[in-house]
Amino acid sequence: MPKSRLEGGFIIPPADFELIVADHCNTSCRSCNHASPLVARWSADPASLYRDSSVLAKYYRPRVVKILGGEPLLHRKLAEVIRAVRSTGISKHFRLITNGQLLHKMDDAVMELIDELEISVYPGVSRMTDVFPLAREKTLRFGKKLSINEYDVFRKTFTSIGTDDVHLVRKIYDACKLAHVWGCHGIRDGYFYKCPPSMYIPQLVKGIPGLDADRIRIADSDDFQARLLAFVNAPDPLACCTYCVGTVGRQEPHALVSRDQWRLETEKPSEELIDYDWLERSSIKQDLFDDCKITTKTDRAEHRRRKSWWRRLVRMASRRTNQAYAPRRRRAPKRQTAAQTRREASRSTY
Ligand code: SF4
Ligand code: SF4
Repeated sequence: MPKSRLEGGFIIPPADFELIVADHCNTSCRSCNHASPLVARWSADPASLYRDSSVLAKYYRPRVVKILGGEPLLHRKLAEVIRAVRSTGISKHFRLITNGQLLHKMDDAVMELIDELEISVYPGVSRMTDVFPLAREKTLRFGKKLSINEYDVFRKTFTSIGTDDVHLVRKIYDACKLAHVWGCHGIRDGYFYKCPPSMYIPQLVKGIPGLDADRIRIADSDDFQARLLAFVNAPDPLACCTYCVGTVGRQEPHALVSRDQWRLETEKPSEELIDYDWLERSSIKQDLFDDCKITTKTDRAEHRRRKSWWRRLVRMASRRTNQAYAPRRRRAPKRQTAAQTRREASRSTY
């Protein structure tokens, strides 16, 4: 099982770190694994994120920071948030993941601060005929990478009924790619979380004590790094795993559903939500593969081709601008003929 490791004095998570900047979203996808359609509106406070990530940056170094939500473009001070976290040096690569619906309103400062723009495409959600050219234009203009992922199916994640079967909970946890393979760790209000569902389950499942204990306090202390490493690599399931089927939930076609429908679909025991075949296969082999995602990443050759096309365009435009504004060369005065000199001399003689 891939795990977080200690290297060069830092904890290196197995994959990317999730910087959740807003919980709410402008769409309502069935089985959203950040529970956006159901949880309360929330936007990250730049000062609080700066405080937490500047402590974390001393001990923890993810390869990539994924900026997401909910819908991250709903955060009114997104550029301020990214600037604050980036300034801590926690990672060199920042990837903004959005459904693209608000791309036309996005501040250019955000494009300057990120390294990559990733558009998630859901059937029936995105007006992609507008979003794709805009995403291309922005990434080319700012020299950033563009990735596009399509999701036709989602897997179930949350169950408000849960299960009493502790062996099943352990199997779900052991097979959970969010916790062990994709390393979707996150921070919020002074705490570090192992996965997004453990942030949201205390809001979805009421009256069960201990569900809000699946986190550790971010502290600049001598033993913090050791405690953090033990927490992320812990062999035992979280309390929240009883109310979550991790990454082995049943697959179903993507759909937009109402809030009530969303809640209704979680009111089933874990046993009814599990894809048992996928559970067995994930227990045997844990790779990065996400069978819900169709990656349509713009490949490198295509990216290079578009970049050189853009450079040519810029060169042509600047050549024209230079021509328009370049000072005109003065013509050398014509040499006078001998007859003209004689005529002028006779005119100036009174
Ligand atoms: S676009 Fe869909 S999957 Fe993404 S955060 Fe919003 S509701 Fe969730
Ligand atoms: S709550 Fe447990 S099963 Fe669910 S995503 Fe987190 S670690 Fe995985």
